[in-house]
Amino acid sequence: MSDVDCQFDVKYKDQISCMLSPDNSNDVKNYYENLIRKRQYCGIEVKDKRFMGKGTFTTEVFGKDDLILKDRMFVASQHHFNKMDCLVCSHCFRYIGSIELQIGRKLFFDHLKSSSKTDDDENTSNVSKQSHSPKNCEITHTNSEKMKLNNDSTYQKSLEALMNGTLILPYSKKFRLPPVISCPGGCEEEHYCSEKCAINDWKIYHSLLCTGLKSTPLKKEALIKFIEHANSTNDVFILAAKVISYTILEYKKRRDNYLKNCPQKRKQKFIFPLLLEAWKPVSMAFKERWWDFVSLPDDVDKNDELSFRNELKNLANHSLNLLREAIFEEEFGQLFSLEIYGNIIGMFELNNLDLVVASPVEDYFLYIDGLNPLEKAKTEKITRPFLDALGDDYADYIHVSGSAFFPLHSCMNHSCCPNAKAFKRDQDRDGQAVILATQYIPKGAEVTISYIDESLPYKDRCLQLADYGFKCKCLRCLSEE
Ligand SMILES: [Zn+2]
Ligand SMILES: [Zn+2]
Ligand SMILES: [Zn+2]
Repeated sequence: MSDVDCQFDVKYKDQISCMLSPDNSNDVKNYYENLIRKRQYCGIEVKDKRFMGKGTFTTEVFGKDDLILKDRMFVASQHHFNKMDCLVCSHCFRYIGSIELQIGRKLFFDHLKSSSKTDDDENTSNVSKQSHSPKNCEITHTNSEKMKLNNDSTYQKSLEALMNGTLILPYSKKFRLPPVISCPGGCEEEHYCSEKCAINDWKIYHSLLCTGLKSTPLKKEALIKFIEHANSTNDVFILAAKVISYTILEYKKRRDNYLKNCPQKRKQKFIFPLLLEAWKPVSMAFKERWWDFVSLPDDVDKNDELSFRNELKNLANHSLNLLREAIFEEEFGQLFSLEIYGNIIGMFELNNLDLVVASPVEDYFLYIDGLNPLEKAKTEKITRPFLDALGDDYADYIHVSGSAFFPLHSCMNHSCCPNAKAFKRDQDRDGQAVILATQYIPKGAEVTISYIDESLPYKDRCLQLADYGFKCKCLRCLSEE
């Protein structure tokens, strides 16, 4: 495959091969021990299974339904299409605002979408660029007046009242959410649940990727092009950009600390070992070049495999070019090489972990449904029209969906008869991954989860697991083979 040649792959060949070479088992052990300690968990350890990659093992006994681990994400992002269905903190993915704002905003966007479908498509791009705060929805509403939305102005007005807080729904106080905090860089894309999340996100990823007032017009334009391309092709590119941004910012933090302690080294321009340290979360992860391992879709002929893989490579290259236009720094040429970009994307695709957070809006309507008949009838006079407008299948849409990489969760291997599962309990209200034991697990046993629907027949399981690049050898598969 030589369609695309990336000059950075050649220029930084040695550094790249160093970044992609496997870590020694001592480093692996230390890295995960540290991570488990930081998460304040005990009872598990990550071990190298020799030629079989890493695995997670228990160091104590777990009973059925015991919590094994809550894992914080290294990077995550909400799917582009899901951003209109629910408003969550861009850092911890907790729902924010209020029940009223969540409902009003979702219905408002639905309304815009259905109106712009009937209009000629002039307004479609407006919809995708909508911001998420009630303040801005008002601005949008002013625009939308051009969009023949006036026919049902009472409905419009009630949505607006929900969003700006003048219409309070009964019992909504029982489902209080944190307030909406704006991005410190002034963009309208990201919102937070607290100053702490806003500042952390800014420091860790967002300061390089913000399209707000603090970025120059040129950078802003380039970033928007990059984001639009990712939204219309594959939003894994957004995650990859976050990883690159994280690595650059983490490197700079480590470099500043290092120079503070060794002022005599000030002249040293670039300190590669510090970049390797910043890169650790990626270097530890299982990954391959995206376009090389992705399994061939059913509708692609075997003879077209080469051109299919080339197409993916070209797509990644195009995305990377757009990202370079936006945030390239000479010092970090190796991070902007196609080889590194392909491996970062591969990390997400191979460890494909869903970001899921249950919606308080569903809880709210379930609560109303459970009221005594008299109280329920009174309450539903107000809430029913909104529930009807959301539709019977609203619960399928209003949960957070996105992709994330969880460093410890990703070390758990697959089995078709697993002893653990990822499961959100009522109290788990943010984006962290929660792993529970599904049966008694003795000390020293491997913790396994299922990457797929394990109730499927053998053949279908094999097909689905091919996407993760392996053939399952669990006891069940061996017996059904
Ligand atoms: Zn938050
Ligand atoms: Zn921002
Ligand atoms: Zn299996």
